Order: sequence, then C-alpha cells, then structure tokens
Amino acid sequence: MYDVIVIGGGPAGMAAAIKAKQNGSKTLIIEREKKLGGILKQCIHDGFGLIKFKKQLTGPEYAQRYTELVNELKIETMVNTYVSNLKVNGDFFEITIVNRKGIKVLFSKALVLANGCRERSVKQIFIDGTRPSGVFTAGTAQYLVNRKGYLPCKNCIILGSGDIGLIMARRLKLEGANVLGVYEVKNSPSGLTRNIIQCLDDYNIPLYLSKTISTIHGKNRVIGVDIVSVDENLKEIPNTKEYISCDGVILSVGLIPENENAESLNVSISKNTKGPIVDQNLMTSIPGVFSCGNALHVNDLVDYVSESGEIAGLNASKYAFSHYENFDEFLNLEFNDNDFLYVVPQKLKINFNENTIIYFRVKEEIENCVVRILYDNKCIYEKKYNKVKPPEMERIILKNIKLDITKSISLNLGKE
Ligand SMILES: Cc1cc2nc3c(=O)[nH]c(=O)nc-3n(C[C@H](O)[C@H](O)[C@H](O)COP(=O)(O)OP(=O)(O)OC[C@H]3O[C@@H](n4cnc5c(N)ncnc54)[C@H](O)[C@@H]3O)c2cc1C
Repeated sequence: MYDVIVIGGGPAGMAAAIKAKQNGSKTLIIEREKKLGGILKQCIHDGFGLIKFKKQLTGPEYAQRYTELVNELKIETMVNTYVSNLKVNGDFFEITIVNRKGIKVLFSKALVLANGCRERSVKQIFIDGTRPSGVFTAGTAQYLVNRKGYLPCKNCIILGSGDIGLIMARRLKLEGANVLGVYEVKNSPSGLTRNIIQCLDDYNIPLYLSKTISTIHGKNRVIGVDIVSVDENLKEIPNTKEYISCDGVILSVGLIPENENAESLNVSISKNTKGPIVDQNLMTSIPGVFSCGNALHVNDLVDYVSESGEIAGLNASKYAFSHYENFDEFLNLEFNDNDFLYVVPQKLKINFNENTIIYFRVKEEIENCVVRILYDNKCIYEKKYNKVKPPEMERIILKNIKLDITKSISLNLGKE
C-alpha cells in the first residue's frame, strides 16, 4: 500500500512525487516511457526554467534537475509501465498496471494524475482528402527530428500557430527543410509572442492569418494542399483557393489534457479546460484524486507545470495521512464564459488559510484591463494588465481568503 501514487513521470509528476516524499509519504511514480522527463525529453530548444531557476535551460536540462532530485530522495519509480485502469475501493485506490512482467494491481491512499496532454490530430479538424503519409502532428515531427534523427519532410507547411508548430518551423528550417509558411485559421496567432519572433521572424518564415487547408492531396505521400481564406466566422471565402505543392504537413492545432485515467474514475471534467474540475489543493471531484500539469489544463510554461505538481503532491500526501477533505464545503469560482477561456481552480474550499493560486486565460486579446475578484459583491483583489491575450496563461495569488458558504465569489474582467 502506497500513500501516494503519481501517474506520469513528466515535470508535473516528478514535482508532485518530490513534494509528497518530502512530506513523508511512501510514494511511487509510474511512467509508460523508458525514462522520466515526459515531453521535455524531446524539447531540445532553450526557454525552460526562467521562473523556477532564473536560467534558460533546455527541456532535457530542466528534466534532469528533477530526475536527480527524484533519485536523491530515493523515490520509487516504475518505468515502461502503463496505467490502464483506476478504481475506488473504499478508502483507497486500485491501480491496474501493465508492463513486460504482465498485469498487476497496486494500492494507494491518494493519487496524482500527471498524465500530460495529447495533440489534436487531422481527424479532429476535418480536412478533406485522402490519408497519405507525410502528415504529422508537431509533437511527432519533433520526436522524429530531435530524438530519432530523421527529417520527416523537405518542403512543408505548418497548419496552426501553436507553440509547438512555431518551434518546429524553426527546427525543420535549421535541419535543412524548406518551411513554406505557417497557416493559422484565426486572425491572431495561437502561440507566445516570443516564439513568433524567435522562431518565424528571425528565420524569415511567413505567418499567414485567416487561412487554412481545405484539402490534402496525394495518394501514398502528400503532394500538395489547397489553402483557402476564411472570414471572421472561420467560414471559407469562395474563390480564394490556392494550391501549394509540398511533401509534408505539420499540424499544430491544439492540445487536450489526457484524461482516460480520470474518466475511468468518473472524475468531473471541465468543459473549458477539458481537464478535471479541481479545488485550490488541485483535488478533483473524487476525494483523494489530484491533478496537475498539462493533464489539468494546457500550460505554456513548464515552471507553472512544476508549481501545480508541487501543490497536488503536497496535498495528496496530506490527504493520505488524514483524509482532511471529506467534511469541507466549496464555493464555485464563477466567471463569464465570454471573457475567459478558463479559470482553474473552479472550486474554492471555504476553510482555507494558505495562498490560493488562480490560473486563467482570457478569451480575446484586450488592452488596459483589470482583473478583479469579487466576493460577496465586494472587490477583494485587483490587478491591472497592459495587455492580456489567449496564448498567455495568467496567474494570480490570493492570500488568506476566508469564505462563507452563503456568499458568492467570481473572477471578472473589465476595462480600466
Ligand atoms: C513542443 C513543446 C515545446 C514547449 N516549449 C516550452 C518552452 O520553451 N518553455 C516552457 O517553459 N515550456 C514549454 N513547453 C511546455 C512544457 O514543457 C509542458 O507544458 C510540460 O512539459 C508538461 O508537463 P507534464 O508533466 O504535465 O506532461 P508531460 O511532460 O507530457 O508528461 C506526462 C507523462 O505522463 C506519462 N503518461 C501518460 N499517460 C500515462 C499512463 N496511462 N501510464 C503511465 N504513464 C503515463 C507520459 O508518458 C509522460 O511522460 C513546451 C511543450 C511542448 C509540447
């Protein structure tokens, strides 16, 4: 019987396990790949750890720092092991694992779901045409180039301006591929501004907004695509079709939290984040089950992934010792869907004396605005922003809030 089992050995899972172990819990990390580190293992560019370590680390360097701590603390790890099912059994959980030795059931008092996220694929964005080879998600292309040493295409276009697509545009160009352009269906880029500058502008790779692929051509291999312009409702504008020949299409069209494990426990899932609904301890709707990192909501910075892992791990460990949550009451943190893409946590435990970190993304870019927290219709927190935009996750810290179950609390966005 473990106190805390962490599913996923990426930065979120390692941070969670470290905190749980430091709090005295018998802790295990289960990771399906051969090594800990998660997605960071293939992110060989720098830009990781600016907040946490005040340094520009590469992904593997950032992962290495955490892996060393996991080893120093002698945290048990099972790699090459896949968690296939989770079940509540009274006061503990049954975790079904599959590895080369076969199928086995483990037991734990608390669980941390740190499974990361998945990329949206061509099936989810409904592009016409045949299914030739040469169509890759940006993460797969990144894996092939950075870990396997293959160049998956020579003349490619990138669909979607998410951060991974921008980073892969630069990477493929550096490896000698001709990157014909990044095509984004929306009228503004989805990735971070720093990535637009460092990955596209610096390498003369054009970014085309309000354009998308309508058809992929090719029988065995991609030979070209039809590009069309779209209006403000993302509908194709007639007579704008343009054929571009290429041998590769790289998709960077969004990430979705990986939640098969959460769903097997019937954890409530947010329609906004597509990850579990949580309180400020990052506990889900199932007592004893915590979520963090990209499994909770898609983060743009790894530093915040580690931060959420620490919160989830520490609280999972406390839960394993005392089951403290069972008698608590919660208030919903209300927000307007027209202003915010999402807000995490969605629920606030009323008897909470520690700092509460609130992560959010706005729905549209807005300048000179104020984000306020209203409790019982009074402003208890206010922060001014010169600019907020959807690609950049924001984070605020609420100190020592004492809530009353009969009152309401909300996050609001307004003009200055
Ligand atoms: C291409 C790319 C570029 C990025 N660039 C930057 C950057 O420049 N700067 C920055 O700060 N951040 C960057 N990020 C963001 C940051 O790296 C990620 O948000 C972060 O690494 C996610 O960590 P995670 O632990 O939540 O998920 P992951 O790293 O995905 O880890 C999840 C782990 O769970 C395992 N797993 C999943 N399901 C199971 C299961 N059923 N059983 C066992 N194991 C399982 C997976 O194998 C994986 O190892 C980038 C992300 C990507 C994808």
